[in-house]
Amino acid sequence: MQRITIAKGDGIGPEIMDATLEIIKAAGAQLEYDEIEVGEKVYLSGNTSGIAKESWDTIIKNKVFLKAPITTPQGGGYKSLNVTTRKFLGLYSNVRPCVSLYPFVETKHPKMDIVIVRENEEDLYAGIEHQQTDEVVQCLKIISRPGCEKIIRYAFEYAKVYGRKKVTCFTKDNIMKQSDGLFHQVFDEIAAEYPEIENEHWIIDIGAAKMADTPEVFDVIVTLNLYGDVLSDIAAQIAGSVGLAGSSNIGEECSMFEAIHGSAPRRAGQNMANPSGLLQGAVLMLNHLGQTEVATKVQNAWLKTLEDGIHTYDIFKEGVSTQKVGTKEFAQAVIANLGQSPKQLNAVDYQKGQVLNLPKYKKRPQAKKELIGHDIFVHWNGTNADELAAKMNKIGTSNLKLNMITNRGIKVWPEGFSQTFCTDHWRCRFKSEDGKAISKDEIISLLQQCIENEIDTIKTENLYMFDGKMAFSLGQGQ
Ligand code: NAD
Repeated sequence: MQRITIAKGDGIGPEIMDATLEIIKAAGAQLEYDEIEVGEKVYLSGNTSGIAKESWDTIIKNKVFLKAPITTPQGGGYKSLNVTTRKFLGLYSNVRPCVSLYPFVETKHPKMDIVIVRENEEDLYAGIEHQQTDEVVQCLKIISRPGCEKIIRYAFEYAKVYGRKKVTCFTKDNIMKQSDGLFHQVFDEIAAEYPEIENEHWIIDIGAAKMADTPEVFDVIVTLNLYGDVLSDIAAQIAGSVGLAGSSNIGEECSMFEAIHGSAPRRAGQNMANPSGLLQGAVLMLNHLGQTEVATKVQNAWLKTLEDGIHTYDIFKEGVSTQKVGTKEFAQAVIANLGQSPKQLNAVDYQKGQVLNLPKYKKRPQAKKELIGHDIFVHWNGTNADELAAKMNKIGTSNLKLNMITNRGIKVWPEGFSQTFCTDHWRCRFKSEDGKAISKDEIISLLQQCIENEIDTIKTENLYMFDGKMAFSLGQGQ
């Protein structure tokens, strides 16, 4: 018996959770439950995180969490429980299978069968944002090597264990050469360890267009957090089944499984909701727990039920569906089909003992790191970069001289274009002329001179070489 934590959530949550638990119990799932309260009631009791301290203890003790959707109350101050849970528990991997169930569920893409593996902890979701000037706000995009390695290895291991043929990486490394560039580089390194699995890289814009148009050419897709967020909703939608999809959030110790839809408050308490999304989350969970025979049995019975045309209102269609049923009746139909397989849709056969081999991240030896310059960001209300350059040129040390000024990343000095629109946020780059290493004392001297010259410094960044390789971007147009 495996003890797991469940939360019935809000809106349609309790109904779809009851239906899901009933189906997996009937299929023979070896599970015991601790139930916790999360969501609206907890938020409205004054807890802005939507979950009590004791509930965290239960989740951490049981390690596996099946969660129904919750309602986040309108208005400020309430933190997303999903984002908090992923980050607190280190759930680095979000896995979302998007498969078409044509002709039983309408879709323009009858052959689609994609799994999106989305990085879940970092990227712009680090939530580090600052207003720096009257006109400019910044959000930091944080990409780490462990973050990349863990998610990319997860994607390849998933492909290996589930017999998938290809892993595609989506990034925008033609623009973000350092951050997306690292993700792409790690993808190439790890792909080389899996020669039996095909690999490829697409730039996210054209890749997403291709996926929306011809999804059948993709198999497993691995990508960064924000891209994965957008892409996985598109993929679920074009598969025809946002309401039918589940997802897993996997960490080194804990994991959380859920439906991808929300709490649909208008449908609550009417025995109308489709429990399939949460049931799909539960199938992912059973596989994760190694209860693969039960997962196979549930999945095939579910596919058979859809094939029989027994549909809830959201997917009911005259001519295709045979019976419009409520949540409870749908669950009963799936239970009645346990032990049977679909005839037209692809039946599944999850293999016993399939475990993903996910080694702990090993730190690499530290690189040789040399400081060769400094970017000083200043708040300045002028518009002519030459004027700012004249001010900044008064500043410097024996090694550090003004090398370039950019505005929103575009080089405006030397030799800028008068047409370039400038805000009040300027980056002044000071570099050692011959790439010689400098000391931090020189940076302190630069900043001291800024104060003396009444320059409003808002942020600074060091410019480094790592193992002799330039580890910062050039200005656009440089
Ligand atoms: P929603 O997914 O709840 O509903 C969108 C539409 O899909 C509605 O028309 C709804 O009736 C329908 N729908 C959703 N699930 C269905 C199901 N299982 N069966 C039949 N129809 C279904 O999205 P929303 O209306 O934007 O959000 C409602 C609430 O859910 C909000 O408070 C939101 O914050 C929350 N939410 C929670 C989660 C989560 O807990 N993981 C995710 C998304 C939204």
